Amino acid sequence: MRRLWMPLLVLLLVWAGPADPALARAQPPTNDSAEPPAGDVTKGLDDDEEDLWDFDDEEEDVETWGTLLRSQAPDLALFTMFATLTLVSFFRKSVWLKYVTFVAAIGYMGFAKSQLISVVNIYGAMTGNMPVFRYSLAWYLFAGFTVVSTVLWGRLYCGRVCAYGALTQLLDRFVPARLRIEVPTWLEQRAAWIKYGLLGTTLLYFLVTANITAYRYVEPFWLFTRRGSTGLWIGLAVLLVATVFVRNLYCRFLCPVGAALGLLSKLTVFKIKRWSACDTCKLCEKTCEWGAIRGPEIVLTECVRCDDCERLYYDTSRCPHWLILARAKLRGTWSAAKTAVTG
Ligand code: SF4
Ligand code: SF4
Ligand code: SF4
Repeated sequence: MRRLWMPLLVLLLVWAGPADPALARAQPPTNDSAEPPAGDVTKGLDDDEEDLWDFDDEEEDVETWGTLLRSQAPDLALFTMFATLTLVSFFRKSVWLKYVTFVAAIGYMGFAKSQLISVVNIYGAMTGNMPVFRYSLAWYLFAGFTVVSTVLWGRLYCGRVCAYGALTQLLDRFVPARLRIEVPTWLEQRAAWIKYGLLGTTLLYFLVTANITAYRYVEPFWLFTRRGSTGLWIGLAVLLVATVFVRNLYCRFLCPVGAALGLLSKLTVFKIKRWSACDTCKLCEKTCEWGAIRGPEIVLTECVRCDDCERLYYDTSRCPHWLILARAKLRGTWSAAKTAVTG
């Protein structure tokens, strides 16, 4: 039970308002007050007096769910298409579909919508500053997808949906391997804690000052709105250059949202299965670019469900466990070997 309280807390925190740029977009018009407009000349008159005027009642805009849905239908449809693409690429373990998803994430979720989960969302949850549901249906669909997919499969959001993560993973494909600096395991494991420190610090700062502007200094998602000061652009350039040498630098070591989703992913229902042969085989561990495999164990907080190890897992020509199964089959002990699946 004690192991569950932190992920549950994060679940509550992440279920919040949109990233800053999207927040502005998600807010309803401000004239939804039940009070008559300030210039309403009938205010204060009784029914008879009102009749004397004998004017036609002004036609009021009636806001029904039908009109709300119609106005938000394009956003709902486009996000549904994007989420479908994400899930299809995930379940098919298809490399090229994953890259198509990255492009869609950068283009649509990033530059077109600026819709990313941000620490601002956590601030919003802490203060109950949530967007109005009926005006923000697409955003709630996006946030719901993020939370539910994280609970079901882990940090699928980081592995597919986040525009910044998609951008750096795509960048990674074009960087020559000789430029890479492999971070030693001991350092990688320690550096992964920095993001939790940043998450705690930014939340504490917000609680003490009620000032949300610190988010711009702990996450580079403003990039997709192209609204940053000179200092921020310089900082971002330095971060991207560093990412050329150390892959997924920000995501692995610095991102507070990744830390929050990592805590939430401790609840993961459908984990990556491991074979008993994984106790000694290091193939997947060497393949994982996120430092999320330590021996036979998948570290849920670091894994972004990128599929790399799962493709190996199903590769009968490379994963040694298939060889073990084939030998066991020959010896007639197939069922015993088949059940030797852990986690
Ligand atoms: S770690 Fe942060 S920046 Fe990276 S993919 Fe996840 S949310 Fe996006
Ligand atoms: S290649 Fe197969 S046996 Fe080796 S670590 Fe990966 S899943 Fe386990
Ligand atoms: S290689 Fe496997 S463990 Fe590593 S991030 Fe990808 S899915 Fe997770």
